[in-house]
Amino acid sequence: MEPELPHLIAGNWKMHGSLAGIAAYANAIRGAQPHADLLICPPFPFLDRFAQALAGSAIALGTQDCHANAQGAHTGDVSAAMVKETGATFVILGHSERREDHGETNAHINAKVSAALAAGLTPIVCVGESLAQRQAGEAEPFVRSQLLHSLPAGFAGIIAYEPIWAIGTGLTPTEPDVVAMHAAIRAALIEQLGSAGAGLRILYGGSVKPNNAASLLALPEVGGALVGGASLKPEDLLAIAAAAPRD
Ligand code: PEP
Repeated sequence: MEPELPHLIAGNWKMHGSLAGIAAYANAIRGAQPHADLLICPPFPFLDRFAQALAGSAIALGTQDCHANAQGAHTGDVSAAMVKETGATFVILGHSERREDHGETNAHINAKVSAALAAGLTPIVCVGESLAQRQAGEAEPFVRSQLLHSLPAGFAGIIAYEPIWAIGTGLTPTEPDVVAMHAAIRAALIEQLGSAGAGLRILYGGSVKPNNAASLLALPEVGGALVGGASLKPEDLLAIAAAAPRD
């Protein structure tokens, strides 16, 4: 049996922060020796500064999107190979804010995941239901359908289950609901990808904070967290990482 991967605590800065703040942030986290893996996904213009500030540390870098094409006339976009060149190794794809703000469909995300994999990046593919879908009892079939259409054949990456209604709201699903959804995602991954689906990390995301991280991260099939707001404070990110179980 494969050894279990450490929990991954991934910070999604979204469109926050400033170049001026990176040195202090990086200094605060680079000396920490958490037993969880740490990843920071800042806005594109901060990547290079972050890469320099975290050089030599075990903290990984990622972006919050990439384009599906390798290059071309796509104003404002960034290719997976460009991301890779900065030293970043992960890319968040299909975040609900991109699905909402940019009309990204599962088909777009599928193409971006393929581009990320071709460039040697590890995609973190976000899925999750709206409150209306949860209340209608449609959460699991909706997420299963997102997985089916967003993941290309041979997918090798990470899934982040992020119920839309829990993002930035301070709300989280009940523990049994998180367990049930992560089990459903695992079953879907195995169905789609065969035995490769058994070993992929499934992160939980949505209002993870230092005070709820230990209970969320200890749940079965929760392999880490995708953290928005709390990742902007290095002490909160480290507290979340410290709350992860030792794998
Ligand atoms: C996110 O947007 O990925 C997220 C989980 O945000 P927050 O932690 O702020 O809810």
